[in-house]
Amino acid sequence: MKKFMKLAIPITFAATMVLSSSVFADPQSNPNGPYIENEQNISLSSYMSNEDLYEKLQKLESQSNGKMQLDIAGYSNQSPDGYSTEDDIGEPLHVVKFGDNDPNKKRVLITTQIHGNEQIGTEAALDIIQKLSSNGKEVNEILENVSIWIMPRINPEGADNEYEGSWYPIRYTHQTWDPEAIDLPVDTSAPWYYNEDGSERAQNNNGRIVYGIPGYDQNRDYNPNLGLNIEDQDKSEVADFLNNRSTNNSRYGGLYVTAEARTVTSVFEEFQPDVFVDVHHRGFNTVSDEDNRSVPVQLAAVVATQDYEDPFTGKTYEVDEDVLKLGKQVNALSYLSLQNGESHFGAIQKYPDVNLPGTALGAFALNDAAIMLIEIKGQSQTLGQKQNGMLKETVKKPLYEVFKGLADGTINDVDPQIYDDIPESTNRISDPTTRDDDAF
Ligand SMILES: [Zn+2]
Repeated sequence: MKKFMKLAIPITFAATMVLSSSVFADPQSNPNGPYIENEQNISLSSYMSNEDLYEKLQKLESQSNGKMQLDIAGYSNQSPDGYSTEDDIGEPLHVVKFGDNDPNKKRVLITTQIHGNEQIGTEAALDIIQKLSSNGKEVNEILENVSIWIMPRINPEGADNEYEGSWYPIRYTHQTWDPEAIDLPVDTSAPWYYNEDGSERAQNNNGRIVYGIPGYDQNRDYNPNLGLNIEDQDKSEVADFLNNRSTNNSRYGGLYVTAEARTVTSVFEEFQPDVFVDVHHRGFNTVSDEDNRSVPVQLAAVVATQDYEDPFTGKTYEVDEDVLKLGKQVNALSYLSLQNGESHFGAIQKYPDVNLPGTALGAFALNDAAIMLIEIKGQSQTLGQKQNGMLKETVKKPLYEVFKGLADGTINDVDPQIYDDIPESTNRISDPTTRDDDAF
């Protein structure tokens, strides 16, 4: 396993940090119901390192008879526009391409592991890539009509994080807020989604660990203004924006300070997908007090409920009505596809409507992509490999049905009302303006 310790933390300071974690003795509020449910039987033995992932992707490409193209879209510390966040270029961000960006074809973009501790989405993506690489009649019919690009593990550094010498995947990226590097005054406040002390909720250590490497929640760093380059903006405007708590919060888009978000956005702009799917994990919850089935996935088609006015350009972004309809059809078809399987597959919920323009889903929905959020239950640390096969199915099965529906046009026959009628999760984000390790 490659180490990513970029900050040399003096031993005395490190010790202080560990000791001071006791001030966090009370875990954060627990918006997603019972969280510590599967502490036992945790096995992380089949953990896939970044090197493992790269090797698997290369192998799949070589076996695909030219069907699949594997590209490096950018790096965790350097995006294609040359923007860099650290001296070290970082880990590659891969894009697996089935088909090109032909506007006459339907186009689907899928990302996984924007939060490093959400691994099953990546494993499901590998299975999907393998299936699309095969030469089946059904697959060929799909790919004649639909181009599919997949970016597995878009937060490779969080995925490969270590704590006390062991693999400990985390939600956040590895990057240090350095305002001077982008010509901002040295005392400019960090974006609100900056994780300065490198800490995360945990099952041990009284509910918190401090691994000590700062970073960002990449899934708050996106912006409906896809071309926003913080380094090219008026510096005093940017500093004012960040130093003001009424703008430096989740109601506004992020500032594209991570190379990862910029890289993914560059792929989005090149591909201009009709449908964008982001695969996450969440905590645990049951359907209701009466129905104690564990909910395997939550879905969402609505992550931007309001028009967005960019404070820097004054331009307004809105979700197109037809795009919203297609998003609901995609989610509805996914929901229906899981009703046919084993009974616990059916316990699907809808993630409540939220307005988060700084998420990849929110920013892209405001740029004409129909969206689907898939939230699988459990984080890598809490669930381990338990139920892996079943949970992967809850991602693969709906996506395959969506591919088919887009290929033969039957997606257009799906009643969007089916989406509206999916039972809504009662779990709320506690406070969207503060760091919340459970919100997608
Ligand atoms: Zn997530």
